Amino acid sequence: MYVDAMDLRCSSCDLAVDPLSWACSSCGGVLDVPRIALEGSPSGEGVWRYLDWLPVSGPISLGEPVTPLVRLPWDGVDLTLKLEGALPTGSFKDRGTAVLASWLKAHGASSVVIDSSGNAGASLAAYSARAGLKCHVYAPASASPGKLRQIAAYGAELHAVPGTRQAVADAAVEHARVTGDAYASHAWHPMFVAGTRTFAFEAWEQMGVPDAVVLPVGAGTLMLGIAHGFADLRDAGLTDRVPEIYAIQSTACAPLVSDGPEPVEVVAGDTAAEGIKIAHPPRGRAILAHATDVLAVDDTALWKARERLHLSGIYTEPTSAIALAGLSALADRLAGKKVLVPITATGLKSPA
Ligand SMILES: [Zn+2]
Repeated sequence: MYVDAMDLRCSSCDLAVDPLSWACSSCGGVLDVPRIALEGSPSGEGVWRYLDWLPVSGPISLGEPVTPLVRLPWDGVDLTLKLEGALPTGSFKDRGTAVLASWLKAHGASSVVIDSSGNAGASLAAYSARAGLKCHVYAPASASPGKLRQIAAYGAELHAVPGTRQAVADAAVEHARVTGDAYASHAWHPMFVAGTRTFAFEAWEQMGVPDAVVLPVGAGTLMLGIAHGFADLRDAGLTDRVPEIYAIQSTACAPLVSDGPEPVEVVAGDTAAEGIKIAHPPRGRAILAHATDVLAVDDTALWKARERLHLSGIYTEPTSAIALAGLSALADRLAGKKVLVPITATGLKSPA
């Protein structure tokens, strides 16, 4: 069902806000991910195969393919990898960006800004180039040089910010406040998560519903899209179950590894998993509500898992490999089960 004038609403106080908003103008809360009834049959390929199940029309596309599945036995688990590096800019972020950029363009944005450790920035830069949007990307000065070059190559204005990841986010928010540019944050904007739902739709068509999904979680935008996507399929009567979801964090930055219902605030330490170094995930409560469990593993386990992947022919950036380190830690619980792990980005992003 295509919805042109879909309300964006605050998840805390239910206030309806302007379509170019990224947070509640009253209480500062995150906006709800839109619920869309799955009507009609998918047709075509890739992300826009699910156009009728997305909140936009007139899609902005870079020719997103169906990403491939690869079976790979792992510590007694029936593992399938989904290779998101096959998307146009080399990471899963293109699923969310394709929908978010289409939404912002349809609602009159001409200039956008994002903060990113690299992949989301590169993705927004590419789709902005395609859509004719001016794009500003605020990135940590310490981000992988390959990612920074990719962002600049698409013609985006790159602002490298020294200091913490939070300082980078603050600078982007300030840019949006001063200029009026649309803040296209993957961590905040609900239309990004509306787009990552297509991971679940695609996996469901390729392999059915897995017993479990194990994945790296920082801002949780892929995880929440997967949770919403499978729930939408179940609610539409297209399947009768949803997978367990295991969120993997780094021991250097694990705000969601907590015994209680609230995220714990931590100072981000150093980890090679730069894509999930998020000390204060805006959707932390939603992540905890949807996760079967949250685990943290260290970089030693990450590098070991990454080497195993590489020696199996799967070239991946460190952030992706942390999911496999987590899977090894979960091997007893998931023995014999059908487990799906997204390889969230290609290793070409950060070869060092
Ligand atoms: Zn509110």
